[in-house]
Amino acid sequence: MDKTNKNKVDIKIKNNADNTVDEFVKDKFREAEGKNNFEESMPDDKIKSLAEKFISQKKDAILDVAKDYPKKKSLLVDYSELVKFNAELCDELIDFPDKVIKIFDGVVNAQNIPVNFGGEVRFHVRFALPKGFTVKIRDVTSEYIDKFFGTDGVITRVSDVLPKVYIGVFQCPICGWKKEIEQEKTRKLIVPSVCGDCKKAVRFKLLPEESKFIDIQRLEIQEPLELLRGGEEARKIEIWLTDDLTGKVLPGNIINVAGVMKLIPPKDINDAVYRKFIDANNVNVVDREFTEVDLSEDDIKKIKEFAKSPDIARKFIDSISPTIYGYREIKEALALQLFGGSRFELPDKTKTRGETHLLLIGDPGVAKSKLLIGVSNIAPKSIYVSGKGTSAAGLTATAEKDEFAEGAWVLKAGALVLASGGLACIDEFDKMESEDRAAMHEALEQQTISIAKAGIVAKFKSETCVLAAANPKFGRFSSEKAISDQFDVPPTLLSRFDLIFPIRDVMDASQDQGVARYVLMAYTGKKEEHLIPQIDVEFVRKYIAYARKNLNPVLGEASQKKIEEFYLKLRQESSGDVVQITARQLEGLIRLSCASAKMRLKDVVENEDVNRAIRLTTYSMNLIARDKTTGKIDVDIITHGPKEKRDKIRIMSDILEGLTDNGKKHCMVEDFVKQANERGINEKDAKNFIENAKKEGRIFEPKNGQIGMIA
Ligand code: ADP
Ligand code: MG
Repeated sequence: MDKTNKNKVDIKIKNNADNTVDEFVKDKFREAEGKNNFEESMPDDKIKSLAEKFISQKKDAILDVAKDYPKKKSLLVDYSELVKFNAELCDELIDFPDKVIKIFDGVVNAQNIPVNFGGEVRFHVRFALPKGFTVKIRDVTSEYIDKFFGTDGVITRVSDVLPKVYIGVFQCPICGWKKEIEQEKTRKLIVPSVCGDCKKAVRFKLLPEESKFIDIQRLEIQEPLELLRGGEEARKIEIWLTDDLTGKVLPGNIINVAGVMKLIPPKDINDAVYRKFIDANNVNVVDREFTEVDLSEDDIKKIKEFAKSPDIARKFIDSISPTIYGYREIKEALALQLFGGSRFELPDKTKTRGETHLLLIGDPGVAKSKLLIGVSNIAPKSIYVSGKGTSAAGLTATAEKDEFAEGAWVLKAGALVLASGGLACIDEFDKMESEDRAAMHEALEQQTISIAKAGIVAKFKSETCVLAAANPKFGRFSSEKAISDQFDVPPTLLSRFDLIFPIRDVMDASQDQGVARYVLMAYTGKKEEHLIPQIDVEFVRKYIAYARKNLNPVLGEASQKKIEEFYLKLRQESSGDVVQITARQLEGLIRLSCASAKMRLKDVVENEDVNRAIRLTTYSMNLIARDKTTGKIDVDIITHGPKEKRDKIRIMSDILEGLTDNGKKHCMVEDFVKQANERGINEKDAKNFIENAKKEGRIFEPKNGQIGMIA
């Protein structure tokens, strides 16, 4: 940029590329083109007299604010109103915001508006900028230093509200001379260097009781996930809120900020790299549901046309990770998950959950991670994270002391909060941190995440659907054992997933050949027909966004009856200790049926949708819950293994209880094994039981060869 023109920023030009530019911003752009760029800034007294004139028309609005002081302290001015009043003043605000805002604040505060408040009264003028002034976080470069502009993002961190000196009163330690210094926006305290009286260069002392403080709160926002494509990393920026703007937002909120870019000098004076932040003048919380994908009339026409294709499900299945061979059912479930079910508010004001959670479990190297990445690439809003070593905020949310807030508390949003309204793909789900594990239960079912720590109580919205993948604890997994024994995922958490798909790396000639062909093909450099997505990814994304935004299918009479019949039949076949289906799975079935209808852009769930849901549910249940000996489905197998094994465990628990009863705290392992033997349980199973119970902390080993139960 030209030096002489340093203070004129081309926000107008930048935004002209953006199709959201409002009409009057366009006008301003035309105006700016014809204007002399070397023009000097407006003199302060002219700004002041314009501000006085403008503010004089705002008497009622100011009195309205004053009525609620100190709850309200700010007069909100719409930029479009200011444009109508004086376009030149608007230019001035954009180019020299600190000066203009200060003059406006001064004008309002000089009015001595009566308020019902004892302390120092301080009003602010806040400006709401139109969309056309929005700059993407990644585009906030050094040309915006000291300029006024807008930006949006999702809040990732929120600090405690802390007092900051804004007028410092300093005293010379030698002669007692005092000096008042108005502080700048940056973090560094500006201290007098030489005493005005004794002329000595001394270390001045701040007098807190005579200085004035203002509340500040620091935030970090990052680019909204829906604007990122294919694993692009979200850029972040720091925001400082002051006074009445503080204490109103939470991590996970999407906000629109109007403010001025400021710099924080480096700690080391030889360092030339500064940190940037936005000093917010105005903040709006945007309540944005699922997605902001822009759809044109033409897009919508194409989407509606496409919805009529008879084999639409197959088309979506084919567009999920086309380079991965097989797994048709899993891909079908993934497609449904992308659309999501319906949401209804029940008479008691609670909401039903529409999101379908899916879990892929299985051997290493069977393309689980690849599937997750593939799905996160087509979801309109998604995040891909690994349970292991996920960012400091983890998967859910945390409150911790942080240098970001000078050692004070900071609330941080994790992946599930950031992806609210979208999809979170969590790889290595078994390796997540224990705090996340605890919060995950609430997140999956209630769709909120609560934090209660060191007096901080906060609840975050997490309407996120989860696609998780887990690897077995020891090498490969076996269908003979309970999933919860082989994967580090507690049974209670397993039951939160609508469908679980085990993927086993078995030697199967046709699967092996298919995989080999697909993997090898990728390295031939040729563009094989079926490896290319049938539908353009961008179109799939638009289609999903459209369906999610506009449809909330209901169950018709026929589909309702069909689901009921399926459920009741399995319930009737269940007995006391072998349950074939639970109410939770019934809900899962409904969610999948609704998702299928949504995929076809139907307002009412039809037979075809229910059939698809039943087929997928049965497919999954057959793989994870079929008892090898009886051939029957038994939902408890997922969490506790086959009934035969559960019976054995119950018997062994009884034996141990018997042996450690009548006052004795522990017994000999030998005696335990002997009694187990007598009841048909071999030594290996008995020893295994002891090992597992020890791991789970249910029994202890006081001496070698002895065991006791932990009450
Ligand atoms: P996981 O996460 O299950 O351990 P990955 O997603 O890392 O496995 O996959 C390992 C590799 O094996 C990938 O490069 C993938 O392309 C390949 N692979 C495994 N199964 C298939 C398949 N069915 N089709 C194509 N490639 C496969
Ligand atoms: Mg993996």
